[in-house]
Amino acid sequence: MKQEIAFIQRADLKVKPDTASLGFGKYFSDYMFVMDYHTDIGWNDPRIIPYAPLTLDPASMVFHYGQAIFEGLKAYKTADGTIQLFRPEKNMKRLNESCDRLCIPLIDEDFLLHAIKQLIVTEKDWIPDGEGTSLYIRPFIFSTEPYLGVRASKQYQLLVILSPVGAYYGNQLSPVRINVEEHYVRAVIGGVGHVKTAGNYAASLKAQEKAEANGFAQILWLDAKENKYVEEVGSMNIFFKINGEVITPRLNGSILPGVTRDSVIELLKYWNIPVREVKISIEEVFAAYERGELEEAFGSGTAAVISPVGELNWNDQTITINDQNIGQLSQRLYNEMTGIQLGKKEDPFNWTV
Ligand code: PMP
Repeated sequence: MKQEIAFIQRADLKVKPDTASLGFGKYFSDYMFVMDYHTDIGWNDPRIIPYAPLTLDPASMVFHYGQAIFEGLKAYKTADGTIQLFRPEKNMKRLNESCDRLCIPLIDEDFLLHAIKQLIVTEKDWIPDGEGTSLYIRPFIFSTEPYLGVRASKQYQLLVILSPVGAYYGNQLSPVRINVEEHYVRAVIGGVGHVKTAGNYAASLKAQEKAEANGFAQILWLDAKENKYVEEVGSMNIFFKINGEVITPRLNGSILPGVTRDSVIELLKYWNIPVREVKISIEEVFAAYERGELEEAFGSGTAAVISPVGELNWNDQTITINDQNIGQLSQRLYNEMTGIQLGKKEDPFNWTV
């Protein structure tokens, strides 16, 4: 699809927030990218228009049957002012996997990436340049056909909005307390856990609220069938360093294949640090702790990049990992990944665009 992207200019630009007050996902830039789909004509009318509320028919199928998917990636500004994306083609591919799972028509990945680049160039002044800050990019698609029968919609809208975000951890990584969830589950095999559907996040809120009420930052999710095998932590993938070897749950159909997860695995291989994707039970993690072999645990994801786990609570049994300190490997991975993203370190994999 090589359509021209139309542009509608806004009359006044917004006042940009201070870097110190950014936080996550609170402010939105001046423009958004929009594209429509109708079965008769396919994806059409790509346009960059002023950021504004939408008008939707109350019968729009998204409100009733939930065909809604999204992606999340970031644009970074390097010291010399270059704008960089980190492996964005993987997010485009994952978006299409989400489309496929929810019977949403596929998008042209190259065209959407081209449109995102054009939107970012238009909005380059919105990329903050403080330490650890970035411009979060949120592409999403939802069904818009006004119809109450249960089937795939014949109309959709795709939008891309941009949000300047602050440093996740301020100046320093800080280990978090995690509760292993025993009752609620995030995803089932054969379900939608391997893609980014809005409903996955709605389904996770109850357990997240419970964890927070008990003083934990995030949940560690176990598999839905046996309540035994480790899946993910909050909206991150999870890694354990046990006796010198790094282990992460292998992709089984209910785990989201994180771009950061893949990058961590690639980096470890490049550094000749042993890494394996395995089916690992929470029992094995606690047993490794008992043997004094659980050296580090950390989450990986676009928002925090690397998030050290300081404490794991399972069945009222609490273990403290690495004395609540930031593990050496967690810190090294964080430095390397953010270094590549910000153009401060060599990029041996050509990950940045
Ligand atoms: N798991 C879940 C459930 C997530 O929402 C995310 C964030 N997209 C991740 C893992 C990490 O994925 P990524 O590294 O691509 O951000």
